[in-house]
Amino acid sequence: MNTDTFGLSQPDGLPDERWLQELANKFFTSPPVPMGAVEGIPASVAGSGISPSAVHQGNSVDLEDPMTSLPDPHFAGAGHVPASVAGSGRSPSADQMAGSVGSEAFSGVQRPTEQWPFSTDAAFYFISEKNAFVRSQPALPTHAALPAAPYDVNLVRKDFPILQQYVNGRPLVWLDNAATTQKPQPVIDRISHYYEQENSNIHRAAHELAARSTDAFEGARDKVRHFLNASSSNEIVFVRGATEAINLVAKSWGEQFLQSGDEIIVSHLEHHANIVPWQQLAGAKGLKLKVIPVDDEGQVLLDAYSRLLGPRTKLVSFTQVSNALGTITPASKIVEMAHAVGAKALVDGAQAVSHMPVDVRALDADWYVFSGHKVFGPTGIGVLYGKEDLLNETAPWQGGGNMIKDVTFEHTTYQQAPARFEAGTGNIADAIGLGAAIDYVTRIGMDLISQYEHYLLQYATRLLTDIPGLRLIGTAPDKAGVLSFVLDGYRTEEVGAALNQSGIAVRSGHHCAQPILRRFGVESSVRPSLALYNTCGDIDALIAVLHRLRTTRPRL
Ligand code: PMP
Repeated sequence: MNTDTFGLSQPDGLPDERWLQELANKFFTSPPVPMGAVEGIPASVAGSGISPSAVHQGNSVDLEDPMTSLPDPHFAGAGHVPASVAGSGRSPSADQMAGSVGSEAFSGVQRPTEQWPFSTDAAFYFISEKNAFVRSQPALPTHAALPAAPYDVNLVRKDFPILQQYVNGRPLVWLDNAATTQKPQPVIDRISHYYEQENSNIHRAAHELAARSTDAFEGARDKVRHFLNASSSNEIVFVRGATEAINLVAKSWGEQFLQSGDEIIVSHLEHHANIVPWQQLAGAKGLKLKVIPVDDEGQVLLDAYSRLLGPRTKLVSFTQVSNALGTITPASKIVEMAHAVGAKALVDGAQAVSHMPVDVRALDADWYVFSGHKVFGPTGIGVLYGKEDLLNETAPWQGGGNMIKDVTFEHTTYQQAPARFEAGTGNIADAIGLGAAIDYVTRIGMDLISQYEHYLLQYATRLLTDIPGLRLIGTAPDKAGVLSFVLDGYRTEEVGAALNQSGIAVRSGHHCAQPILRRFGVESSVRPSLALYNTCGDIDALIAVLHRLRTTRPRL
């Protein structure tokens, strides 16, 4: 029996159908919506997030049968998810909003608590006399037999106001999470509260609002420390995002410590943000940039990596999760191998933080970077984690206010980390908003989020694989959140436009990762990407459009 990154394992000999059914049971936390009880809302959207087709067909979805994917007439009516749908009715934000924002002045809005009002043995909208195929499938255990609800995607969805809208006449299906994630109400409210009650510059003023905003800002830093399991909040530097964090390391540590002939290793999977700053530095200082290759599934080749390492290797900078393919890299191993030759290791966590628990001490990364907007926080704020000694021995890259201890016209002495890297007035409000986002995911539990998303990923992969003419780019066994593909007979932007017509947001293009797409022989791909609020219904909607495209313009 193999256990994967998510702690989920398919027992040897257990058929795929049965395994997916067990996973469905694990996450199937709310009764599906009975036919007619909530008009027009399909169970896949308004129920547990587990698609009716997954649950009631043992996941053997027949895409030729319109009743087994998401029928448009039902989907067209599904705008918002009623408060009464899911179990307790208490959203993850309710507790957070009622007091965890660190200010007595703030009183959050309590969500209504309503009970599930429907009997669970009623007919479902997708089961009818006409639909004998569905009825003939083996029944799953009743809800009464299911374990207590560990994760209720509809309560989560209620916290994201943007998801309640229609786009092009259809409920918005947000599958562009690798580009940016949507913001839950507590994050939005926290930022408003900051501007309504606390706004002040931090650290230097002797008045009440400065104290409040300083407390909130430093409180957010401490939340990030816990989130990453860093040893000290001195190791948490607020920056604009992952891109700025990598540039900071290149332009400060790289500038100070690297010399002509030194070597930097990156992987073939990297985002341009983890290529270009090193290329610029290599050009300026005569360094050599080496690339860890990947196999045809998109996994980094550790043997080849070990052959690239040597006494000249000074830095290995790589992603924990590929934004274009979704591959999860063996990050601890890569760091360990870098350290074995005396090199430092930078881990780009931009695509990891919203999908899995991160522990920088377990990783032993020298630096770890991420962007707030990819983890349900605001744009314009991100984090550079660095080991404290390393940060303190590195000269600052920008000079100005806040980062100094003392200034004369002859000489300046600098603060210790993190202030030495935070010149000028920072993005105070959004750092505090990021703190609220971290509270939000922590309240749900990163372990649970990663397990739920893993289920979604398996479900989506299975359905995409079954579409003739569709080629998945990136099929590593260890993946998170991303499904990149090309469809025969269509340009990727045509697929993106067709999906948009149905209210489905995905990215099509090169995803700022041209080298890895070219490795797979394409210049662009369509990239649906998942987050904690996505449902199997979202995936059914995606699949339905792709299926329609395939049948309207068959393989050329
Ligand atoms: N690294 C990876 C893996 C990413 O996916 C991204 C964003 N797509 C970045 C770095 C850069 O993040 P940002 O644009 O927020 O700085």
